[in-house]
Amino acid sequence: MKGETMMENWLTKRVLLSPHKPALVFDNKTLTFGELQKDVLQTAAKLKTLGIEEMTKVAILGKNNATFYVLILALQQLGATIIFLNNRLTTRELSYQIEDAKCQLILYDSTYSAKTKDFPKEQTYSFGQIETLTPMDFQPVLTFDLNQVTTIMYTSGTTGRPKGVQQTFNNHWWSAVGSALNLGLSDKDSWLCAVPLFHISGFSIMMRSLIYGMPVYLMEHFEAPTINHYLKNGECTIISVVSVMLKRLVADLEEAHYHPDFRCMLLGGGPIDPQTLETCVKKEIPVIQSYGMTETASQVVALNSQVATAKIGSSGLPLFPVELKISKEGAEICAPYEKGEIYLKAPNITIGYLNQPEFPLDSWFKTGDIGYLDDEGYLFVVDRLKDLIISGGENIYPSEIEHCLLEHPAIKEVVVVGEEDQIWDQIPVAYLVFEKDQLVDFTKIQEFCQEKLASYKLPKKYYELSELPRNAAGKIMRHQLIKK
Ligand code: ATP
Ligand code: MG
Repeated sequence: MKGETMMENWLTKRVLLSPHKPALVFDNKTLTFGELQKDVLQTAAKLKTLGIEEMTKVAILGKNNATFYVLILALQQLGATIIFLNNRLTTRELSYQIEDAKCQLILYDSTYSAKTKDFPKEQTYSFGQIETLTPMDFQPVLTFDLNQVTTIMYTSGTTGRPKGVQQTFNNHWWSAVGSALNLGLSDKDSWLCAVPLFHISGFSIMMRSLIYGMPVYLMEHFEAPTINHYLKNGECTIISVVSVMLKRLVADLEEAHYHPDFRCMLLGGGPIDPQTLETCVKKEIPVIQSYGMTETASQVVALNSQVATAKIGSSGLPLFPVELKISKEGAEICAPYEKGEIYLKAPNITIGYLNQPEFPLDSWFKTGDIGYLDDEGYLFVVDRLKDLIISGGENIYPSEIEHCLLEHPAIKEVVVVGEEDQIWDQIPVAYLVFEKDQLVDFTKIQEFCQEKLASYKLPKKYYELSELPRNAAGKIMRHQLIKK
């Protein structure tokens, strides 16, 4: 009997509703939902021979292509718990996650064979090996139990060791619903996915596709000209991007505009400099800035494009299913414009980290991010709590200094961190990457900052780097720069 927490299998339901609608476009080949289901069930019948049951923990290491897409859905049809591995990690980092998640099977794309050398042999299969298995009779799961953990995804590891985030069907459902209630749905919609499927940014597009009945244009590589082509000719109406991708698309765009049906460049994953956003406004690129994390199964806050110019730099308003507060030490609610930690309550928030106690029901989730709300409730994400610099008792927000330095024409990239200091406890120091062929004069840079920043915020030291240290998600690894 169906309980309140059961929903009909999303793929089965989607095929019932729109079997002939395009579901996946990859490498110039289109599969309808009906065709996709056929491929998925054939693959699931092969996977079944490996003994996969409901809740079997299966790790998967792949890259954005049709094979990976089909395998992910096939595992879901078997009721397995999918553990997504990030293909940019090292063998050692991957082995840690496989052990941490107590994976029973590991499936991998043979491109990554070299990374699998330390994996337990008898539990590890390449995608090619799966292809050769003899299919077995099986029944796809009839229902999805909303309380069941369907995916486990590790955080990007920007602030420390990645944490395994348990995501339920309920989390993905509410994430998709919250996004649709904000962006709306159109029959013309198709979502371009050049972000990794193993991240929540990519996987959430797959789930939206099933729930909305919308095609996904899947890209293996990020190629700005190819992507701009799809956005200009109107084949794709929405794309998810992180800031580096946005910058590359903008740089490639020149004068030509996007198609009138193109309606949303959903920007997430991290902060962006105001200069790039201003360029987007000038070029009439409909950027929707958003805020979210692995723990929230994608966006929880987003900025409507109608107010993008008025609220430049804001991540927007909490989505319909989301409650948000800014608070200090969990008690005091901050006044408008007062900075504090961002707390969230929403049905798309994880039930808890792997191997740690579940979060109590109806509790506020501490994000570890600092932000403030303006007088209309718009969120501005400032920094991570861990990155806050406290110098002589004054709070210094690295992003404020970074934004100031980025206005200097010779500076390409910058990171400001706190260095330990005997007198002040911490002092702000800046790591700079210069534009090519620029002469470096730190005194001039300091003079430039002096006009804009209070003296306690001025970087006390400058270091030059050829590039910034980034992790597998492309995020800056600040803790690697901090000198103790
Ligand atoms: P870890 O938790 O392992 O340190 P991570 O937090 O980088 O890694 P993700 O879940 O990929 O892992 O990233 C979510 C984080 O990205 C947020 O907590 C926030 O710090 C940052 N972020 C996301 N969106 C924005 C935004 N619009 N502005 C600023 N920062 C953002
Ligand atoms: Mg995090």
